[in-house]
Amino acid sequence: MLPIDPTADIGRRAWVPCPRCQDDQDCGPCRAGRTCSVHWRYLLSNKGPLLHLQCPTCAHLWSWNSGFGADDRP
Ligand SMILES: [Zn+2]
Ligand SMILES: [Zn+2]
Repeated sequence: MLPIDPTADIGRRAWVPCPRCQDDQDCGPCRAGRTCSVHWRYLLSNKGPLLHLQCPTCAHLWSWNSGFGADDRP
């Protein structure tokens, strides 16, 4: 398992489903799109709409396009 990134900050969190462990699958608040107290991810950095995330459960690192603030490239 990867270590948690040293730049990870619990004050910067994002509620995005983890593509690896998918631990939010059976969670009511997550499925309702609410800010679950258990299934959040570290928001390491972002570049425009592209968020760099790390899952505190399985330490998976990935990028996710939030679609917000995009310059709308095709
Ligand atoms: Zn995970
Ligand atoms: Zn949850």
